[in-house]
Amino acid sequence: MDYKAAFQGAVERVRSEGRYRVFADLKRHRGQFPRATWTSPETGAESEVVVWCSNDYLGQGQNPVVTEAMKAAIDAHGSGSGGTRNISGTNHSHVQLEAELADLHGKEAALLFTSGYVSNEATLSTLYNILPGLIIFSDSENHASMIAGIRAGRGEKHVFRHNDLAHLEALLVAASVDAPKLIAFESVYSMDGDIADIPAIVALAKRFGAMTYLDEVHAVGMYGQRGGGVAERDGVMDQIDICEGTLGKAFGVMGGYIAADTVIVDAIRSYAGGFIFTTSLPPSLTAGAAASVRYLKAHNEVRIAHQERAATLKRMMVEASLPVMPSTSHIVPVMVGDPVHCKLVSDLLLSDYGIYVQPINYPTVARGTERLRFTPTPFHTDEMMRDLVNALSKLWAHCNVARLGGYAA
Ligand SMILES: *Cc1c(COP(=O)(O)O)cnc(C)c1O
Repeated sequence: MDYKAAFQGAVERVRSEGRYRVFADLKRHRGQFPRATWTSPETGAESEVVVWCSNDYLGQGQNPVVTEAMKAAIDAHGSGSGGTRNISGTNHSHVQLEAELADLHGKEAALLFTSGYVSNEATLSTLYNILPGLIIFSDSENHASMIAGIRAGRGEKHVFRHNDLAHLEALLVAASVDAPKLIAFESVYSMDGDIADIPAIVALAKRFGAMTYLDEVHAVGMYGQRGGGVAERDGVMDQIDICEGTLGKAFGVMGGYIAADTVIVDAIRSYAGGFIFTTSLPPSLTAGAAASVRYLKAHNEVRIAHQERAATLKRMMVEASLPVMPSTSHIVPVMVGDPVHCKLVSDLLLSDYGIYVQPINYPTVARGTERLRFTPTPFHTDEMMRDLVNALSKLWAHCNVARLGGYAA
């Protein structure tokens, strides 16, 4: 077996489809977000860019309230946590952060994981063990981490068409009346920027005796009066059985969690391998995350500013006739529809305009729907938006020429 050739072949397949990934090498600068220094992989030269695709949606990654809490925790408690949660790795700040998160979602308890990915994977796979015969009804656009958890659980699952409640209802009707059921879905879907009808899904769950599992990763910190997510905004937080979130996006740090009734958290805590057999988060992260959650509970004006920025960018793009997709959230996706073209526009924005936005290609989105996905924050100014829209308008004209055979050389 020529192992090396097999690996090369695998990479070549990705490259030939125009979806070979090059990571942008960035230095973020505290106090200057969303500005950063980019190092070119070809020349090693540094240049200044404006970052337009960060999931640090509210700039909490540079909020002094968060960074000072992290520094203080290192000085007080050291670097690592020292173990798994069960074997010496439960620090007081884990307990405090879990209480903060339970309160955020109006639940009895919460449970921390190393990341949002792990929280979805570990929880969903474990639910099949706890509930024999469980059937999971999963939205077709659910995140890779939810799909991984559902697959790993090896139980029965039915995928309903994205946000299609008639299809979900038909699948529920067809399922055995006595079987335990769970509807797994997201609030804000981060690639299209659309939002689920949570009250309607909750009503269906009630009718069919199903539990609900809601991924609010792209909503926590950003929606609801205290940042509890879209379920808080829509007044249905108490109707969600298991709420899942991340500390790595709007909260600006790292880590994932679920919030639920004590008995649910206790069961997951006792059975989920992805929770049990891994070193717990370091105290600096948990202290920083707790400071961030507390801060955003009390500062609704940050959320108002965020929504205003997103609405302004959408309006400017529409006025410039750019193909902005119909997002109802803070996410501003612009359709390109071809992977090579998508990467070309992104490369030119970076090299010629000091604008960094990552091309979103398959398998993150379906083939033929490749896009650029902008995430304006309260720190993106009107001037940055004008620069962006002007650059996109020029490139759109330029790359239309390319499609007629002019540019690609
Ligand atoms: C990013 C993401 C996750 C994973 O969260 P991390 O904390 O980054 O691991 C889970 N669900 C959705 C919908 C996501 O976009």
